Amino acid sequence: MRRQIIALLTLSLTLGLSACTQPQASEALDIHMQALTIDTHVDIGRDYATAEVDPGIDNPKLRCDLTKMEQGGMDGVFLAVYVGNPAEFDAEDFREAQETAEIKFAAIHRLAEEMHSDRCELATRVDDVEEIAATGKRAIMIGIENGFPIAEDLTMVEKYFDLGTRYITMCHSQHNQICDSSGPDEPMHDGFSDFGKQVVAEMNRLGIMCDVSHMSKKSFWDLIELSDAPIIASHSGCSALNPHNRNLTDEQLKALAEKGGVIQIVALNSFLKEVSPKRREAENTLREELGLPGRHEYWRLPKEEKEALQPKVDEYMVRLEEVEKIYPSADIEVFVDHIDHAVKVAGIDHVGIGTDFDGGGGIRGFMNHSEARNVTDELLNRGYSHEDIKKIWGGNLLRVWRDVERVAQETSQASS
Ligand SMILES: [Zn+2]
Repeated sequence: MRRQIIALLTLSLTLGLSACTQPQASEALDIHMQALTIDTHVDIGRDYATAEVDPGIDNPKLRCDLTKMEQGGMDGVFLAVYVGNPAEFDAEDFREAQETAEIKFAAIHRLAEEMHSDRCELATRVDDVEEIAATGKRAIMIGIENGFPIAEDLTMVEKYFDLGTRYITMCHSQHNQICDSSGPDEPMHDGFSDFGKQVVAEMNRLGIMCDVSHMSKKSFWDLIELSDAPIIASHSGCSALNPHNRNLTDEQLKALAEKGGVIQIVALNSFLKEVSPKRREAENTLREELGLPGRHEYWRLPKEEKEALQPKVDEYMVRLEEVEKIYPSADIEVFVDHIDHAVKVAGIDHVGIGTDFDGGGGIRGFMNHSEARNVTDELLNRGYSHEDIKKIWGGNLLRVWRDVERVAQETSQASS
């Protein structure tokens, strides 16, 4: 209910009816509306931007859609062309990955150019983002999550750049042909492969940001040496607060900052806060009671079987609230704790936000984009200045992107 009131308040204030609100609430709203708010990581499915999954409505299947972005005052989002890869792979796997990538690129273009071109637009330059936001539309940007579909063909990098890609997460939770992931225990290349090094140079040349989220420590340190341009972590947390292998250590945060880059703090529960064994046990007991398969098993089921299980899943979600009361998961305060820590270690110019909505992200108080205002409220409560908040919400990311654009320009000038 409180969220609905906030959404209504947002609406009435944007319509100019601000006279009767408290100073604190209107200050928070002003700063939120003035900031260029960008989320660097939202996942999409293969059926995104179809009649089945319409991002134009307040869609219960999505944590990020245009309506929720409008309600929450979100100006821009990087949609992820996510493609997984197996531990061992061959030409056939590359081909399949390229097919999946094509489907997702087509979906994003369909969203911005056909389905809802009146409400959003594709941005491929920093200037575009600012211009689109000024018109009151949402800026849609593209990142590829996992460089796997590049296959072993360097020309694919430019092909994906031409389709709008402005960052590439170098790998996902398995090692790929480019570099080692934080997933497996044993390395494959001990950091970057020779081909991976060429991919980085090509990304620098074109102006695509290199994303360290998901990569191994060794890959990270290799990339710090390899890249001529600043780098980003599009959706990661801080190891010091939760020693998850996906999070960055203080040494990594400092190196990222020294290189001029940015960490975009993720809003995914298990990265922000360790899930206690007791909570896992309680979840498993509930699942068994309802006759539901394990989480990983469930995701591997065919669509029809998942649909048949839906009533049980619904009941599970209701009863999970009981578990939540006893073993609470991460909330907005824990999320902002990670922002605080990253600011303390890396500096205010090197921290931003990348939720991982629709890919596992969503925490109490920041479940979807309609609740984005709560982040600004919490930052204000903790004494962040208006300028600081603008940097965190998008200013820092745009600065890094501009630097990456500049490096690309200088590279092309030097070679011509
Ligand atoms: Zn991810």
